[in-house]
Amino acid sequence: MALLEVNNINSYYGNIHALKDISFKVDAGEIVSLIGSNGAGKSTTLKTIAGLMHSRTGSIRYQNEDITQTRADVLPSKGIALVPEGRGVFASLTVRENLELGAYSRKVDQHMRNTMEEMYQLFPRLGERKQQYAGTMSGGEQQMLAIARALMSRPKLLLLDEPSMGLAPVLVDFVFETIQRIQKEGYTILLVEQNAHMALQIANRGYVLQSGRVVLSDTAERLRKDPAVQATYLGI
Ligand code: ATP
Repeated sequence: MALLEVNNINSYYGNIHALKDISFKVDAGEIVSLIGSNGAGKSTTLKTIAGLMHSRTGSIRYQNEDITQTRADVLPSKGIALVPEGRGVFASLTVRENLELGAYSRKVDQHMRNTMEEMYQLFPRLGERKQQYAGTMSGGEQQMLAIARALMSRPKLLLLDEPSMGLAPVLVDFVFETIQRIQKEGYTILLVEQNAHMALQIANRGYVLQSGRVVLSDTAERLRKDPAVQATYLGI
């Protein structure tokens, strides 16, 4: 049984039909990547899974439960965490305060402190800067903080929207290495990326979206070798 199963979802912005019968699945422990050009429907797919908008048809099943119409504020307690495009860290709060907010459903207790310590181990840079205001950190550091904040709720499924956006190339490498490390810690990751080259390097499987539809799906390795993917998304 897949951890997440998306079947024929159709999402709209008013009259704009953004997702057209999108179907895919994510198995526990995988990195699955959704790639595609601007406006293909990648972010809308994540928003629909995260409950920020709802599909008019089809179903989204998570751990065999129907979550198609479940509200966004309920899903974190079920183990789904979204790191939105643009990160959304609280600039005027410190690193530590941002992490505490990620664990919002927990009391400030020993358990939370342990989880925070784990985050400082996983992201040593954050550990060095616990008292620094998030707004004064570099783009890459803020991305780390956004991911660590999402992990504070110990999600079973992490939804990452364009984590490499706006980062210098050296930081892009760092962010993708981090995502791989998180997978090794046992997390399952659905990754939306315009940087298809990097996404297909670290993913197990991928789906190519075009104009709101899935047009290709395969292992990441085979997608990397696909001439159409190479020509359109990898610049080869
Ligand atoms: P990008 O990589 O540029 O973020 P994307 O693949 O994530 O692109 P979406 O943001 O999901 O694409 O957009 C899918 C379609 O929905 C596009 O046609 C877009 O113009 C439209 N769309 C997205 N957000 C809105 C909105 N708030 N209101 C109206 N239309 C929207």
